[in-house]
Amino acid sequence: MAGTGVFADILDGDVYKYYADGEWKNSSSGKSVAIINPTTRKTQYKVQACTQEEVNKVMDSAKTAQKSWAKTPLWKRAELLHKAAAILKEHKAPIAECLVKEIAKPAKDAVTEVVRSGDLVSYTAEEGVRILGEGKFLVSDSFPGNQRTKYCLSSKIPLGVILAIPPFNYPVNLAVSKIAPALIAGNSLVLKPPTQGAVSALHMVHCFHLAGFPKGLISCVTGKGSEIGDFLTMHPGVNCISFTGGDTGIAISKKAGMIPLQMELGGKDACIVLEDADLDLVAANIIKGGFSYSGQRCTAVKVILVMESVADVLVEKVKEKVAKLTVGAPEDDCDITPVVSESSANFIEGLVKDAKEKGAKFCQEYKRDGNLIWPLLLDNVRPDMRIAWEEPFGPVLPVIRINSVEEGIHHCNASNFGLQGCVFTKDVNKAILISDAMETGTVQINSAPARGPDHFPFQGLKDSGIGSQGVTNSINMMTKMKTTVINLPTPSYTMG
Ligand code: NAP
Repeated sequence: MAGTGVFADILDGDVYKYYADGEWKNSSSGKSVAIINPTTRKTQYKVQACTQEEVNKVMDSAKTAQKSWAKTPLWKRAELLHKAAAILKEHKAPIAECLVKEIAKPAKDAVTEVVRSGDLVSYTAEEGVRILGEGKFLVSDSFPGNQRTKYCLSSKIPLGVILAIPPFNYPVNLAVSKIAPALIAGNSLVLKPPTQGAVSALHMVHCFHLAGFPKGLISCVTGKGSEIGDFLTMHPGVNCISFTGGDTGIAISKKAGMIPLQMELGGKDACIVLEDADLDLVAANIIKGGFSYSGQRCTAVKVILVMESVADVLVEKVKEKVAKLTVGAPEDDCDITPVVSESSANFIEGLVKDAKEKGAKFCQEYKRDGNLIWPLLLDNVRPDMRIAWEEPFGPVLPVIRINSVEEGIHHCNASNFGLQGCVFTKDVNKAILISDAMETGTVQINSAPARGPDHFPFQGLKDSGIGSQGVTNSINMMTKMKTTVINLPTPSYTMG
């Protein structure tokens, strides 16, 4: 159970502690932040509201701990990460329980998130050993005017202190996708978990604590992003920010200093359906892609652009499948569970009302109870409706009927987002041309957008992000090149 057994140390009364200097602590603020269970809409947990002074201390210890961590052999860093991964998987049940209560993630998906996170940590340890164990050797005589008098040795060195800020929808997975690359590369890590999801994240951090990482190397400060966020992101002790979330990331990018940024932001992933597509495959992918975790995924299908000639058949097939989705509590492992907050549900309702006023065709009756919104397919959506462009982050999916492929590509590219997209057709040549024309970080051919497998490159264009993730890219991003040049007194040629 959460907060008990090996996790008893992280809880004091009814408030979860924050993690600094290898210890679980109460904030001197004496204040806590309530985490509302999206299903019951009552306070489920409380976390410390950390102060600026506490953030300063964490940054100081992170800086000190990083210096000796960078001197720790790579294989040893990997060994500790493997250990943390095993402990994380061993304790999947209490962590999954928190995900169910804090963010209403369906019970099975919650367990999957923790197991996938353990796998990600292990994979990152292995990949780090491989790619950080390699450098580059250059000789000077390949550049005009030079003899072979200079040998250049390059290797990757850590950046220093990495600030990791994940979003509510994958508070464990999107935290470890930042923590593991940071640590294997020799950095220290300060985590600011999302408020909804903070307790799951604190349990995950405790698994790293149990694995025996050095004091101060990993810290976790809690509190509302709106209150401590700016202080953290503009802190002079931070050498890199890895952020996943919504438009907040755009504001952070403008405020952050001259440090590397990894930003994974929102998306409006389009699903382009051609006349020759396998419509059963499309319908299955729309259900999985559009409605998994009630549409609260960055890579959810967020707009369907279907050729008019096959639209009626496709809409009918999707409708049949929507009718079979179970709606209810995450504990019962329902397909559709309450969205994360009341304000999120109100925002989704605003998009639905706007579509209704402007004449969208409702394939199901709009139904809401508290934060629970029943799955809804909106047909005949037009570009003047907000739902055509905005990210609902809920179980509401618009269908725009198109008369040409160009129209579909145009809609996709007119979006301010460019995370992923997908195209369904049996003609692979057409699919490649469409993929090349779509201004998104990734295009899936004949499958819904997806972030994983976690070692694939993952990036957004335009307002969807800066930089690229995926295990290898994240490790590289959290390092910089260091070169040493050996100057020889006379040119030296191999075997010469
Ligand atoms: P969000 O509101 O932007 O919050 C993300 C994180 O930022 C949370 O930890 C939040 O903390 C923190 N935060 C808030 N204000 C801050 C500030 N001023 N400075 C620093 N941090 C601050 O996003 P969300 O609602 O959690 O997640 C949904 C969004 O994330 C969607 O737009 C979705 O598309 C996007 N997302 C993108 C990806 C991707 O890979 N591209 C993946 C998943 C989700 P608090 O919770 O305490 O406010």
